[in-house]
Amino acid sequence: MARHVSQSSVASRCLHAAVVAMLMTSIFTSAGSVQAADVRHTEGEHLKPTGRGSGEHDPSGLTERHALRFSSFSANDISYHGGPVMLGTVNLYYIWYGAWDFTTDNTNTILNDFGRYIGATAYFNINTTYYDLARRAVSGAVGFTVPNDVIDSGSHGTALTDAAVQDIVSNALTSGRLPTDPNGVYFVLTSKEITETSGFCTQYCAWHTYGTINNANIKFGFVGNPLRCPSACSAQTVTPNRNEGADAMANLIAHELAESATDPNLNAWFDRSGLENADKCAWTFGATKTTQNGSQYNVMFGARQWLLQQNWINRGRGFCTLTN
Ligand SMILES: [Zn+2]
Repeated sequence: MARHVSQSSVASRCLHAAVVAMLMTSIFTSAGSVQAADVRHTEGEHLKPTGRGSGEHDPSGLTERHALRFSSFSANDISYHGGPVMLGTVNLYYIWYGAWDFTTDNTNTILNDFGRYIGATAYFNINTTYYDLARRAVSGAVGFTVPNDVIDSGSHGTALTDAAVQDIVSNALTSGRLPTDPNGVYFVLTSKEITETSGFCTQYCAWHTYGTINNANIKFGFVGNPLRCPSACSAQTVTPNRNEGADAMANLIAHELAESATDPNLNAWFDRSGLENADKCAWTFGATKTTQNGSQYNVMFGARQWLLQQNWINRGRGFCTLTN
């Protein structure tokens, strides 16, 4: 059986949509086969495939090649590497970082609706096709119950390092302002004044990882403000909810939340090139419809229209889709 060579030299660069499409159609392995021994896993969120910049980012420093201790399972052009998935309800938390003013800006209203209603949608249930060693699957349930957010108006300045992002999460948990929840995913959502020095806007728009915080395994991520660099991180200028920043962030959160659920510790589900499920469909939107204001959308929930990137379903050889 033909094997795909591990893309270790490619994985740290942007895999444009065309390249991803080639990878997707090139080789399929049969169920139960053992994957090549070395897989390099980088983590991140692709920029829009504009041809500039590169795509992957690894805040946890796990980019070194590592021999798999587990015989990975490869069936639908994505492989299982033995680590846990998030079981039960995945609880979503927001940390609003920077100069947010929700008296004049409804980004929180829109993204709170996103958090409240994304669970158990046909869109998020794509993730229920991913499972662990005991064949226990991601549930598709998302919890978004108070207290689910906190504001940090700038404890670490306007230029954040990866370590600062973790520290911002840590502060929210150790102070007790947010619960320390191993089944949570905490996103640091930044206002448009805020940069992230490891490559926001040039190498990624968002990323997710995990770390030990408050003696617990905490899944967290960075979701940058796409208004800093709309050509790299926003899909359209006029948007379904009439707030480009919020709508573009929803698209990024959908991606990172899917990956957090199916690959929380970066050792569960990803392909030969280190692409997690949502990475394989980044910036592809499938069939879209036009809203009353002329913008495009492809998913509806919570009485709102959204334009969300597709996700890879772990079934039928795998493919990018909007529904499970
Ligand atoms: Zn990703």
